[in-house]
Amino acid sequence: MSIDEDLNTCVGCGLCLPHCPTFRISGEEALSPRGRIAIMRSVESGSIAVDDDVAHFLNTCIQCRGCEPACPSGVPYGRLIEHTKQRLATDPRVANSTVPRWLRLGLGVLPRHRLVLVGSRVLAVARRMHLVPRRLDPGPIPVRNGPALRATSTTPDVWIFTGCVMDAWQRRTHRSTARIVSSLGASFGVSGGACCGALHTHAGLDSRDLAHRTMRSMPGNAPILVNSAGCGAALKDYGHLLDSDEARAFSTRVLDVHEWLAPRVHVLPRPTRRDQVVVQDPCHLRHVQRAHGAVRECLAPFVDLIEIADDGLCCGAGGAYALLQPTMAREARSHKVAAIEAVAGRGTVVASANPGCLQHLMAAGLDVRHPVDIIAATLDSST
Ligand code: SF4
Ligand code: SF4
Repeated sequence: MSIDEDLNTCVGCGLCLPHCPTFRISGEEALSPRGRIAIMRSVESGSIAVDDDVAHFLNTCIQCRGCEPACPSGVPYGRLIEHTKQRLATDPRVANSTVPRWLRLGLGVLPRHRLVLVGSRVLAVARRMHLVPRRLDPGPIPVRNGPALRATSTTPDVWIFTGCVMDAWQRRTHRSTARIVSSLGASFGVSGGACCGALHTHAGLDSRDLAHRTMRSMPGNAPILVNSAGCGAALKDYGHLLDSDEARAFSTRVLDVHEWLAPRVHVLPRPTRRDQVVVQDPCHLRHVQRAHGAVRECLAPFVDLIEIADDGLCCGAGGAYALLQPTMAREARSHKVAAIEAVAGRGTVVASANPGCLQHLMAAGLDVRHPVDIIAATLDSST
């Protein structure tokens, strides 16, 4: 379908409004999915000029896509906002407010993995020395993150996608993934420092070269396991992004790690004690990949799960959103923290399968861990 046809699928019913975090916070129609679709329609038809107000209404969208499953008309909101962000990012009137120069520079570094590792270490030291402003705090980052994951086979049963920032900030989760995969008797390959381009796409920048590089890093037909919800959603969308048979075939190999693990997890040994864990659904797992059920299937044999009663409302992390829209991001996070504290004590572990949500919630003082880290830890205490 064309963009105009996609835009016209919205019938203006408003059923998506309660599922939109920015509408819930602001109460403003222009900051709701319906309001943004109306603005996008006007921009496409040329009936309004792109200016700072238009950019503000669209750039405050977290791109959580909580509005998509709520929409009875099947409006492909994610596709619409990605298309519109590309337009804003290349429009000289608003390009700098949409993707500021510092963000373009930062995103330009992501494909250079050594630089990402060095930069992350500098940031981690600066954070420990309290040199990072509180509003920019990314949450705890390790100064040392141990050796990089090494493949166990050149013809692996599965690939583990390690990504860019996650490999620098949460390499322990890759080790946990590898440990579980090996415990299940499977060999694995490693993607290396390939950056999937999810953050670039989110910002409205061209990520096709990165997609090609990522595809080349994991050849063959073996399944590709991804332990970052945002990266997994991006890899699964390469067929649409590149519009080629090769990319479509690649995307069919991509699985969130929990989708691969769920039918196998029952053979892992059970822990000697069960802790309580709150499950937080990353938007790109729940609303985009719709794989949040697999996280529960994977965790349930090892811990007692506590559900948050907020219909999976976004926590406000959203790629670089917390840096670009810190006030809105903090408000969304406050709602999430309140929803967590309504069902569990402050010290209860929270499980989150996306590095961005994990860091964002840790910066608020919560004890947040990746589900595969929780499962790997139980292997140490198993019977
Ligand atoms: S993607 Fe999220 S923030 Fe954006 S309009 Fe939809 S629900 Fe609201
Ligand atoms: S996006 Fe869907 S739910 Fe929201 S107003 Fe349009 S048709 Fe209704």
